[in-house]
Amino acid sequence: MRYDVVVVGAGPAGSLAAKYSAMNGAKTLLIEEHVEIGYPVSCAGLISAKALEECDIGLGKWIKNEIAGALVCSPDGQEIQIKGQEVKAYVIERKIFDRELAKHALKAGTDLLLHSKAIGLRKEENILEVNNQGEHFEISAKIIIGADGVKSNISKWSELGKVKKVLPGVQILGLYDLQDLSFVEIFTGSSAPGFFAWAIPIEKDIARIGLCTARPLQHLKSMLKYHKVVSKRYLGSHLDFTMGAIPLGPLKRTVSKGIMIVGDAAGQVKPSSGGGIYTGALCAKIAGEVAAKAIKEGDVSAERLMEYENRWRSAIGRELNIGMRINEIFSRLSDSDINELIRMINDPEILRIISQYGDMDYPSAVVKKLILKKPSLLRSFGMLAKAIR
Ligand SMILES: Cc1cc2nc3c(=O)[nH]c(=O)nc-3n(C[C@H](O)[C@H](O)[C@H](O)COP(=O)(O)OP(=O)(O)OC[C@H]3O[C@@H](n4cnc5c(N)ncnc54)[C@H](O)[C@@H]3O)c2cc1C
Repeated sequence: MRYDVVVVGAGPAGSLAAKYSAMNGAKTLLIEEHVEIGYPVSCAGLISAKALEECDIGLGKWIKNEIAGALVCSPDGQEIQIKGQEVKAYVIERKIFDRELAKHALKAGTDLLLHSKAIGLRKEENILEVNNQGEHFEISAKIIIGADGVKSNISKWSELGKVKKVLPGVQILGLYDLQDLSFVEIFTGSSAPGFFAWAIPIEKDIARIGLCTARPLQHLKSMLKYHKVVSKRYLGSHLDFTMGAIPLGPLKRTVSKGIMIVGDAAGQVKPSSGGGIYTGALCAKIAGEVAAKAIKEGDVSAERLMEYENRWRSAIGRELNIGMRINEIFSRLSDSDINELIRMINDPEILRIISQYGDMDYPSAVVKKLILKKPSLLRSFGMLAKAIR
């Protein structure tokens, strides 16, 4: 088999890269190791309205719920409400969402092979070795786009290095006494050290409850049983359980000759929230477009493909770096530091600024605004100011 562009992995980043490659004239193949697209799912499915726009599929049956704000809970049980005037985010059903993205890639002219796992890469010739239910075959590609998720083999085989940190996560779909169907609940502090826990409302009495941290299962069990707030709201049963991992801190380099890496595989994830759909979609579209242009020009050298790296870094590179520093600072805060921070944030003027300027895809903007308008926050948490410089 011979293709101009082969995309490995039919998650959101892979389908969008394939769509933009095919749309721009390259003969494109998308391969996926699983027998179906969008399953198994390891995602809370919370995306901003902007992220949905970036995915170019509009509103549809993949939307499970609309979110207008967040309840942020401190370790000592204080709750602050951050509310916008309009829908800020959507809760999506990943299985349906991922299939819709793949459908758009196919409609743009991409070929798709399911149940086909990339098991090796012969770098000199850019040949992928693939296993389809025990049958081995080879695919020759001028460009291979590795969209193969957090455990990416394509980045490993092409010696593009590793992401800075991988944070494991678990989640259940549980019966839960929701306070408000349009509010996500965020739990900070030692229930999920170094990150946070969440309850994402799906429908009346049902939420995705999860967290990302080291030893996540142990922390989730403990949170469901003992957390001041969650233990009262969790109604003791769950319908589903998933596990996964979030890559934090992008690869140092995302291209080499005939190779591009996108999405989780490249660590294109917001380190402050773990969200990777918006960032992955934005980068995948650039990757697909640059791949097709490079094919047209007959130049797949690393230098030519650097257009992808330069464009994605100028769009979100700085935000990811700031997010990484914010994540590192928050990881070092004790429960009492976080209690104090939330007490300070629980001020009508501060909450107004957060509601007005908060952007889940670009959190550094609101941190900057807060520090400018409320220097008292800066005095107490000066290290946050250093993070956004
Ligand atoms: C617990 C948890 C909660 C999350 N919640 C959110 C959230 O609320 N919002 C958000 O924006 N993000 C969230 N994320 C992150 C989000 O799920 C990822 O950023 C997103 O799925 C990345 O998309 P992707 O296409 O890069 O990779 P993936 O979605 O991981 O897709 C990679 C695909 O590659 C395939 N593949 C892998 N290896 C091979 C191979 N060798 N051959 C063929 N196919 C292969 C896999 O089967 C998979 O289909 C969460 C992650 C976790 C773990």
